[in-house]
Amino acid sequence: MIISIASGKGGTGKTMVATNLALSMDSDVQLLDCDVEEPNAHLFIHPALEGTEIITTPVPQVDEDKCTLCGKCGEICQFKAILVIGETVLTFHELCHSCGGCMAACPEEAITEIGRDLGIIERGHRNGLDFVHGRLRVGEAMSPPLIRKVRSHTRPDTLTIIDAPPGTSCPVIAAMQGADFVLLVTEPTPFGLYDLKLAVGAVKILGIPCGLLINRSDMGDDKVKEYAHENDLPILMEIPFDRRIAEAYSRGKALVDVMPEWKEKFFELYSRIEEMAMPTTPSPLTGEGRGGGGNRKIWHERTRDHKW
Ligand code: SF4
Ligand code: SF4
Repeated sequence: MIISIASGKGGTGKTMVATNLALSMDSDVQLLDCDVEEPNAHLFIHPALEGTEIITTPVPQVDEDKCTLCGKCGEICQFKAILVIGETVLTFHELCHSCGGCMAACPEEAITEIGRDLGIIERGHRNGLDFVHGRLRVGEAMSPPLIRKVRSHTRPDTLTIIDAPPGTSCPVIAAMQGADFVLLVTEPTPFGLYDLKLAVGAVKILGIPCGLLINRSDMGDDKVKEYAHENDLPILMEIPFDRRIAEAYSRGKALVDVMPEWKEKFFELYSRIEEMAMPTTPSPLTGEGRGGGGNRKIWHERTRDHKW
C-alpha cells in the first residue's frame, strides 16, 4: 500500500507525521521523502546513507548544420522552450518539460537530447526502514521529474509512505498520484482551513480516498472539524499541542523515540488507513483477507518502463 502524507499548507507537521508513522511500523516499510525542494525527513530518521545518484532530464540540442530553420519545433512546444528567432534556434532549457515533442516534429532530425541536472537522489536505511529522498538542485524550478524519480524506487512488496511537498500544485500531484490513500495533515486555523479546502479539492480530482490528521488540535477554532463533518472527511487522528513534541522536533528527534507511547497511536492510525484505503487488499502486516491493490498496480505498470 502507498500512503501519501500531504498538506495544503507548509508547517503543519506533515514530515513529523510521515516519519513517526514509518518508525511505528514493526514490519518492513519504505519512506520516500518527495519534498525535494526542502527534504528534511532524514533529520528525524537518521538513516545510514548508502549511495547518491545524479538525476538529469532530457532537453533538446540543435545541430545547426542540419537545421533549415523551418520553425516546426517552436510551433509544437507548449512552453516556449525552443524558438526560431532570425537565423538561430534558441533553446531555453529551464522552461523545457522534456516531452520530446520538438525532436519528434523536426523533419531534419536536427534535434538530439542532452541531460540537464535536476538534482540528486540518496538512499539509505534504518533497521527495517528503507529510505529514499531527492534533493533538487539550487535554482532548479522543475521538481516533478525528480519527485517521479524518487517514486520510481517504490518497492511493490512493502508499505510505502510518501512525504509530499506542501501546496496543491504539480509537485504535490506528482507525490499523490497513484497512492492508495492520502492523509492530509492540517491545523485548526483559518490559514489551515483555507489550504485544506484546496488540498481536498486536488485529492478529489485524483479520486483517492483521504482522511485528516489535525495537528495542534487543542489550539485555534473548530472550523476544520465542522468542515470535515460537513464533507464526510474522517478525522483519523488528533495531536494536541505539547511542548515536549516541539522540543523533540527542534532537536531532530522522532516523537516515537522520545515518547514511545505515541508508537501505538501511530500504528492505530495506520490500521484505520488500511481499512479505508484497501478494503479488498491483503494487509502488508498480517497478509490476511482481501485482494486488490488496483492503484498501486497501475502506478507500477505506468512507471516501470518510463524514461525520465
Ligand atoms: S522537449 Fe517538449 S518542452 Fe522541451 S523544448 Fe521540446 S517540445 Fe518544448
Ligand atoms: S524543427 Fe528542426 S529543422 Fe526545423 S527549426 Fe526546429 S530544429 Fe530546425
